[in-house]
Amino acid sequence: MEATVIGVVGAGQMGSGIAQVCAQHDYRVLLYDISEAAIQRGLSAISASLERLIKKGALTQQQKDTTLARITPIRELEALRAASVVIEAATEREQLKFELFERLDRLCPPETLLASNTSSISITAIAARTRRPEQVIGMHFFNPVPIMNLVEIVRGLRTSDATCATIDTLARRLGKTPVTVNDYPGFVSNRILMPMINEAIYALYEGVASAEAIDTVMKLGMNHPMGPLQLADFIGLDTCLAILEVLYAGLGDPKYRPCPLLRKMVAAGWFGRKTGRGFYEYS
Ligand code: NAD
Repeated sequence: MEATVIGVVGAGQMGSGIAQVCAQHDYRVLLYDISEAAIQRGLSAISASLERLIKKGALTQQQKDTTLARITPIRELEALRAASVVIEAATEREQLKFELFERLDRLCPPETLLASNTSSISITAIAARTRRPEQVIGMHFFNPVPIMNLVEIVRGLRTSDATCATIDTLARRLGKTPVTVNDYPGFVSNRILMPMINEAIYALYEGVASAEAIDTVMKLGMNHPMGPLQLADFIGLDTCLAILEVLYAGLGDPKYRPCPLLRKMVAAGWFGRKTGRGFYEYS
């Protein structure tokens, strides 16, 4: 099956990036979010990202206009009936994703593939909420989507070979490198990344060093492009906590226990870059 119209659910950091990349690669995109303000912010972020490409000489004004014209904001989830693949990138909450997939399954034609950009929630469990578990898959992009090359394709217990092949082809057409993994909490990427971020937060919590010192050690000593606390701010502290909760509950090992400082910051509404305050302040 050829995917020509792609539905994107959630117009936040990830959904807007996914919509942009799909539109830049000639797909028509239907972009839905529960919040009108989020759709407007998402469209502005896409426009600003394309503008940066023009400044770098990587895009013409006409290509920007064509790309933006391929993205249609939609106010009703029902409009996603026209999509052959739907990529869900809404907030990282299991119940929310279960309900969204139940609705998508009811409204989309039987051949539509349903993908989730979840960072950690079980694709097998999401798929079980639908009548098409063979056509449900994880398509895990990385932030910022227009720049990061990897797509971690997550194969649920009942995902079919045909669905894996179509999504692998789609990822390649979007200029990405797909890597297929099996469905376990956190998949590969976040099972390895989140314990490191959590340990960095514990180091700060226990007064081992300042946030700047911890990040500098990891940047200069381990050659990481970004320190773990800066990366946590970039991902979103709410998302980091949600992923750690899934790892802790799903694997049952205390090594995944979220640091109390992370819980406290999320309780305060300090989600990182997207709210202007996390381990660092952003204007
Ligand atoms: P975000 O907070 O920037 O955006 C989430 C969006 O979902 C918001 O605009 C919100 O209004 C919308 N939303 C909430 N409920 C909805 C619903 N019922 N229907 C439609 N839209 C709804 O979060 P994000 O960073 O874009 O993360 C989105 C997803 O992508 C999560 O599953 C997250 O785990 C995953 N992810 C995040 C990153 C990252 O680095 N931030 C990387 C890979 C994957």
